[in-house]
Amino acid sequence: MSKARYCWLPLCFAVFLQPALSFSEGERDPLVLQEMAWVDVAGYLETNDMVIIPLGSTEQHGPHLPLGSDYYQAFAMVKEVSRQTGVVVAPLLLVGYSEYHIGFPGGISLRPETMEQVVFESVESLIKHGFRRIMFFNYHGGNSLVQERLIHRINHTTEATAVAIGLGAPFQATEEGEFFDWHAGKSETSTLLFVAPELVRMERAEEPDIRFTTQAAELRALAEDHPELMYVWEQLIGVPSDTKKGGASHELSSNGIWSFSDPRSATAEIGEETFARLTQNAVRFVEAWRLASN
Ligand SMILES: [Zn+2]
Repeated sequence: MSKARYCWLPLCFAVFLQPALSFSEGERDPLVLQEMAWVDVAGYLETNDMVIIPLGSTEQHGPHLPLGSDYYQAFAMVKEVSRQTGVVVAPLLLVGYSEYHIGFPGGISLRPETMEQVVFESVESLIKHGFRRIMFFNYHGGNSLVQERLIHRINHTTEATAVAIGLGAPFQATEEGEFFDWHAGKSETSTLLFVAPELVRMERAEEPDIRFTTQAAELRALAEDHPELMYVWEQLIGVPSDTKKGGASHELSSNGIWSFSDPRSATAEIGEETFARLTQNAVRFVEAWRLASN
């Protein structure tokens, strides 16, 4: 995550590990839709109309982190929110919009319109059952435009109300952190060390060779006196190779990491801080929205 726009973006998948996580006694188990029976869902809907949908990706995260990093992070976080609030979590997709990472092996990307349609039709099913408050917990920046379209479409064409509680939620906005520690760098490696340490191959972690284009380098230099130009610079980072702007992942990073930080400086403690901040912000939001009738 980090500069959340791209990685967590910065927001999945099927085997969920969380050995490093520890929870206080008395907390309930998370409610995951696929683990519930229909009678459980019927009982839940008698008193609750909320559902949380994690959004992640299957895309390269450097040589040391798993392709499913964004999903693992999103799923671990929404399960914690579920533990604390009792709200159902409904994973829908293990993939997202990741076209600019496709130059590295293994990545899977849906076109934005495809992803939107699959998630929208899934949400339509949830609405038929009685869910009315839809919360997306996105952890992959590429999904942000899809999430925005989904929220608008759900709110303007269905009985339900949709919001973002992960990336894109106003209450999740944070300081920038280390410059350009956007993807699979110190920050994200730390979060993975907290949520799924057995999937982190730290012996492979190394700093990338970052290669910005001449255009991007010029803008960054000009931005020293005109910081507003970083807005343009950001538009050049992470664009698909078809645009010939040189900003696709394999063009700007030698190993897929987008960061000037050393991923070997990552720690589970740093990751726990990120995990706690994002989940607590989401929990506060859920508890506040619960006070409204719908
Ligand atoms: Zn990521």
